Order: sequence, then C-alpha cells, then structure tokens
Amino acid sequence: MVMQAMSEKVLYASKVEALVQERPDIFEVLWPEDLLDYTIMVIPRSVKKFSDYSHIRRYISNRYLVFINSKGMGHVKLTIVSVNTRDNIVYMPIDSFDSTWRYLKASINKSIQQQKEQSIDCHISRPEDLVDLSGLYRQGSTVSIKNDRVVYSMMELSQQEQKMLSARDELLSNNENLYFYAVQGNRYHDRDCFAVKFIDAKDLRASSQKPENLCACDKCQRRLLMRKATSINPNQVRAIDNHFFTPNALTDKQLEKLVEEYGFLFEMLDQRTLKVFAKEDSWVIRKYGDVYTLFHNNYKLVESGRSLTDGYHDQNVRSESLMVIFEYIHEYSYEKHIEAVKCKRKNKALVNRWGFVGMAVVKVKRRLRRAQRNRTSKYNYYKNNFVTQQQYNKTIDKMIKAVKTMDSRDEILEYMESLRR
Ligand SMILES: [Zn+2]
Repeated sequence: MVMQAMSEKVLYASKVEALVQERPDIFEVLWPEDLLDYTIMVIPRSVKKFSDYSHIRRYISNRYLVFINSKGMGHVKLTIVSVNTRDNIVYMPIDSFDSTWRYLKASINKSIQQQKEQSIDCHISRPEDLVDLSGLYRQGSTVSIKNDRVVYSMMELSQQEQKMLSARDELLSNNENLYFYAVQGNRYHDRDCFAVKFIDAKDLRASSQKPENLCACDKCQRRLLMRKATSINPNQVRAIDNHFFTPNALTDKQLEKLVEEYGFLFEMLDQRTLKVFAKEDSWVIRKYGDVYTLFHNNYKLVESGRSLTDGYHDQNVRSESLMVIFEYIHEYSYEKHIEAVKCKRKNKALVNRWGFVGMAVVKVKRRLRRAQRNRTSKYNYYKNNFVTQQQYNKTIDKMIKAVKTMDSRDEILEYMESLRR
C-alpha cells in the first residue's frame, strides 16, 4: 500500500485555528498548498509604497499565511501578508520572504509531490517557479534566491556603464525632478514607478516640468500628481490620498486638473482638515460628517487692495462633493468678491424700493445663486435646470417680472414654493 501524504490543511487545522483565535484581527487563512494558485511577489517594502497603490488597493486584503516548521516538531506560525485578490498575487517584503521561504518551500514541495501521486498535472516543477523577483530589479545587479534568501550580486560593469549608472542615481535622487521618461518613450513616470527601474541608464531623462508630447503613465500618474501637490510636506502623499482623495472622491482626471491646471497645493492639518493653497489665497476645508465646509483666510483692506492676516473665516460654502469646493476656490477672486458686495447693495436698493415684493425677488435670486453654487442633492432641481450663467440670468428676469405682478403675500409665497419643486 502506498502511503499518501496528508494535506497540511488537515494535519494542522486545529493548531492554526487556535492561533487565529489568539489574534485580535480576523483575516482569512492562506495555506502553503493554496500558494500553487498564486504568484509570490517579493517586494522591497510594503505594498502601500507602490506607485499605483491607490488603484489596486481595493483588491488588496490581508491574509494569515501559515508556515510550518515540520522539522521543529511541526511548529506552526502565522504571518500577515497582503494579497491582491484580483490577480492572485501574494506580496512579501524581502525580510518576511527571507525568514519564511524555507518553510513555505518545503510545504509547496510536499504539495507538488501530492499532486504527482494523485496524477494531477502541476503547472510548476519547483517552488521557486511561483516566485516573482521582478519587483526587486536593480540596474547593475542581478537578483536571485540563494540558500532560501534573496541575494543581489553586482554585475561586471565597464567604466562607461558605471558612469551611466551613477548619472542615473543622480537624476533619481534630485528632488527637483518630478517627471521621468525614456529618451524614446512616449510616457512619463513618477520616480517610484516600476517602469522607471527598467529604463536603461543611458536612456533615462528627468525634468521638473511636465515634458511636452508625452502622456502620463496610468499606473503612476496619481502618485506623481500627489507628489507635486504635497511638495509643502512630502510625507503626506499617502495620508491625504487616504483621507481625502480616495479614487471615488476624486478621479485621476480631476486631480490632474487641480494640480496641473489650477496649481493647487495641499497640506493636511488633521484627518478631517485639509489646507489648500491657491494663487495668493489659502483655504481650509473641514469635513463634518459627509459635508465639507470651506474657510477662507482672513484679510484686511488696505489702500492697494487687501492684505492677508492670521486666521480663517467661514466662507458659507458647504458641499458633499470636494470637487464643488475646489471649483469654488478656483473661481474665487477678490474682484468677484467685490462684485458680490455690489450685488448685496443692489439687493438692498430693491428692498427699499419695492418693499415686500423686492424682498421676495432677493430671496429668489439668493436661492438660485446658492443652488447654482452648491449643487448638492438638495438643489438637484436647480442644478438640472439652471446650469449656465445665461440661463440663470434669464430665469431671474422672468421671476422678477412674475413676482412684480403679484400683489398678495400668499401669492408670492406660493410661487416661491412652486420653484422649490
Ligand atoms: Zn509609470
């Protein structure tokens, strides 16, 4: 009788279950024999440092990876790994790989053996076939697994090649450089993009200005834009992306507009408060529940216009959409603000002249303006009906005419109610 090797899942089930119960978090368990369906990607640091992390993070989840030291009396341990559930990739930082690989390898070997015994076709012949080291690629070195650890070895380089490599390092370590590209390529990248690693040293170019005629790499575009937008405090790239700019809240296109077109700079004050620098003004956006509230820097009037002072005041702009707030900031100018003050004066004159009817006209105007500005769900009706300035003006004229012909308070109120619907 042939002894069939028993699955580790069966052998160690109770041990692993006990270990999982000791842990404060609840993650799914990944067994070494499951790894046959995965690629094990060894990476330099955490997967969160990937330049396209914001795009893949929705597919990433943590798992407990089991490793079994069968020589040490079946000692079982758990380690937490990040798994890309869409592409079946297990990400392992180098040190975590180095400390667990020999155990994983033994288990995977066993599974390959089992499959052979059961005459199942196995797509790999040795455990190393599951491992992808391309994420560790470094120019001038080769990377391989030796004695169950990741090993870099320097390649023999000519003087010319060494020169090229140090020129390359210089380009990459100069923080003024933002855009990286190959001399004959058609895309530019963030310095951390995987693609940059594979651009030959002699072909790599870099610049602080967006190179014309090249388009953005879609893997690293977001990281690059965030890097540019957080130049005040470069450590905040991830924090701002996590707390405010999730891809749902702000698409790549929208972020590009804010950074490249509007020239906004961002700084996070705390998890609910974001500071925005736009032209000479600075703004604070604070999140209360689902609603963003906008504050504007204080200023005092001086002969030449205004001068900025300390502190912020409530700008009376609220929205559930960050983009609405950003558009407001972009459109704001002191000149426009003066226009608004003039408009206030006009309204006052209307009230003085027409009394109650004038007041109704002002109310209609205000409601429309607010609707146009806020575009929240509450004002959907207005949003859908009066989008352009021209339409808005037309509507106002019509309303003023209508209201002027009414003489009872009830009639006016009823009319205004009808606008709300
Ligand atoms: Zn890229």
